[in-house]
Amino acid sequence: MILVTGAGGFIGGHLVNALLHQGEQVKAVDIKPIGQWWQLHPDAHNQTLDLRREEACKFAVSGVGRVYNLAADMGGMGFIESHKADCMLSVLINTHLLQAARWAGVQRYFYASSACVYAADKQDTRDVVPLREGDAYPAMPEDGYGWEKLFSERMCRHFTEDYGLETRVARYHNVYGPHGTFQGGREKAPAAICRKVAEAVRDGSGVIEIWGDGEQARSFMHVDDCIVGTGLIMNAASSEPVNLGSGELVTINRLVTIVEDIAGVKLKRRYDLAAPQGVRGRSSDNTEISARYGWEPSITLRKGLETLYEWVEAEVLRDRKAVAA
Ligand code: NAD
Repeated sequence: MILVTGAGGFIGGHLVNALLHQGEQVKAVDIKPIGQWWQLHPDAHNQTLDLRREEACKFAVSGVGRVYNLAADMGGMGFIESHKADCMLSVLINTHLLQAARWAGVQRYFYASSACVYAADKQDTRDVVPLREGDAYPAMPEDGYGWEKLFSERMCRHFTEDYGLETRVARYHNVYGPHGTFQGGREKAPAAICRKVAEAVRDGSGVIEIWGDGEQARSFMHVDDCIVGTGLIMNAASSEPVNLGSGELVTINRLVTIVEDIAGVKLKRRYDLAAPQGVRGRSSDNTEISARYGWEPSITLRKGLETLYEWVEAEVLRDRKAVAA
């Protein structure tokens, strides 16, 4: 039996789906009521638990051989810049889950870390040099969320060294795709931009608002690549944290252009320079993942955004119908 935490969330929902397709038995856990999960797979054992609580973690790992810990209180820049304590409280999830996994004799434990562990001063220009794993130290991660991720990575490492619990850590870089948050304040740039474009098309407004000047640059990884990479990292020998992200660097302005192109519109851009925009430039150096696994994320942004836009557009139109009904 495999435990996936955060299974009611975006990546967790896709991971449960993939594991079930591989014929695995899956226990899927999230704090959200089951009716609010992005994807509900009836073949999994679905449970609502608050994994910040030690007892809940003990219950979750019982009878489990492998754990994928994807549960975290998180969101895009708009959320993590204004909810630092909430983000840091996710440390309770990983701490109690590691302890419970150790006591229960779990064989292998995966932790979903983030590119936010990297020091901000390595990301202050748009022409950023892609981030290598060693750049995480000396440590000066994203305040709040990034510190929690780096600390939790470190906990995994010491549980391996001191207690022999096999741990694996991937540093995800901006994952996007269907069946995830696209409105309400926790959404990330690709989903937010798809929603804004779909709403502009629906309402005929002709305008899109962009956070910052749109010249901040990122790489974005499609969730299908994320799931393949997660499986490779979990099943391989190395316990050292590794980047899992795309090497295709784009500005937010370019991202908007691609989504406009998919939607067949051209919108007037309004820039909100006071809005949160995160670091200036961030991209994944994939030397390590390529060397270890002979693989790296390869779904192009254009191709991947088609799947996200199609899903977000349907949600936006469904919302409108629900309001009208
Ligand atoms: P998400 O918010 O969609 O999923 C996280 C899930 O964890 C949510 O459904 C939430 O309800 C659940 N959760 C929160 N607190 C919980 C608790 N106390 N007990 C049980 N469940 C709880 O986020 P996601 O995009 O699917 O991210 C999954 C993981 O990957 C997270 O750890 C995140 O930090 C990490 N990550 C994601 C990205 C990205 O771009 N999406 C980038 C870097 C790292």
